[in-house]
Amino acid sequence: MKTYTFRGGTHLREHKETAALATERLPEPASVSIPLSQHIGAHARAVVRPGDTVRLGQVIGTVEQGLGCPVHASVSGTVRAIVTRRNAVGTPIQNVVIDNDGQRLWDESIRARETGLSEATTEEIVEVVRQAGISGLGGATFPTYAKIRSAVGKADRVIVNCAECEPYLTANHRLLLERGEIVISGLEVVMHALGVKTGILAVEDNKPDAIAHLRERLRKREPLERGLDLRVAVMKTKYPQGDERQLVYALTGREIPAGALPADVGCMIVNAETAAAVSRAFWRGLPLVSRIVTVAGDCVRQPKNVRVPLGASVQDLIAFCGGLTQTPKKMITGGPMMGYALWDPETPVVKSTSGILLFSAAYDRINTLHSPCIHCGRCVAHCPMHLMPNYLAQYAMAGDYDRAREMDAMSCVECGTCSYNCPAGVEIVQYIRVAKGAIRAGAAAQAAART
Ligand code: SF4
Ligand code: SF4
Repeated sequence: MKTYTFRGGTHLREHKETAALATERLPEPASVSIPLSQHIGAHARAVVRPGDTVRLGQVIGTVEQGLGCPVHASVSGTVRAIVTRRNAVGTPIQNVVIDNDGQRLWDESIRARETGLSEATTEEIVEVVRQAGISGLGGATFPTYAKIRSAVGKADRVIVNCAECEPYLTANHRLLLERGEIVISGLEVVMHALGVKTGILAVEDNKPDAIAHLRERLRKREPLERGLDLRVAVMKTKYPQGDERQLVYALTGREIPAGALPADVGCMIVNAETAAAVSRAFWRGLPLVSRIVTVAGDCVRQPKNVRVPLGASVQDLIAFCGGLTQTPKKMITGGPMMGYALWDPETPVVKSTSGILLFSAAYDRINTLHSPCIHCGRCVAHCPMHLMPNYLAQYAMAGDYDRAREMDAMSCVECGTCSYNCPAGVEIVQYIRVAKGAIRAGAAAQAAART
């Protein structure tokens, strides 16, 4: 079997123990707290007030200008309050708190489509995706409508990113097995919007059941007879295979220049769950109001994959998974390589929450290792972006951000492969993040001084 891969990267212990567990639905939470900013771009403005009755899928926040899409109620019930709370990275965000009536009463505006895909225009699809509030569910959180629009006339293929290369996370794997046909349907909608005939489902070779299932589904859809080239590409299991730059290089040999997007080299990439959301929005008129979350780690009594209404709390999820076996040392949203540490179990699940991981001190290597760089070169050998992470970290430590910029710090995709492989335990990627932040701030200050 032909497999595709990229240069560099690393083989991680996969810990995909939840891959065999069918997705369960979280019982209706008593209330949800829905942030009005869940993606890159402008924050939405609340269009409901405390005391209002809302229906499932009803718009509760809108963005009138700039990059952004609406926010929808994920339950039916009554708006209790609009409060400001910090999100996972500490930014204060307005949240609409809704007391759930448990009725799951859908908003009357939601209707299934009555005409076929061939009759849909690009702008119509872009608008459907925007109105449905869909942003990248792989963690990047870029609004999908804007991504589609920016790829018009540039992309010659659409790639569905089904790599799910972070350890522990299996939400996409379960989606491919349980709703593979919806992922393919979403791929076809995006292909139609862009007027391209080639669509690729890129799956790592640690998911043979999903590869077989998708191939079977593709055969049934008879793409060749419809003039479409739809296929499954088997990717070698290696981290960070799901990074867009590595995916594009592995599949096409094209390199994305620093500061450019996959569409600039002819590729439009959507995450598997995003593709499913596009299909549901296009065919059934459904906005994005829930997602699948993997709950795992050694502190969780019953790890699971759970479909969760957006705005339900991490605490609700943990309770549904049987609670904790011990107090976690670290709580992470996302994967262990690129996720963020959480401090508040009341944090709501948002569009980017692919996983909630709860680890004891036994999994915390930061406290057990830390010495100066021993110049072994492992971080350089494994960096998928072919950078010199050791030097970047040293320049960041010294506050020499100009040198870090000259050494291409902005090309770092923050995958954490360097830190993972460092025998000295240098938290390389954290230093590089600091350098990137300082470089961005310097560039913004210079731009402001020019105006
Ligand atoms: S320098 Fe950046 S891109 Fe390279 S391995 Fe480290 S985090 Fe990944
Ligand atoms: S892996 Fe760690 S010890 Fe080795 S060169 Fe890189 S920073 Fe230094």
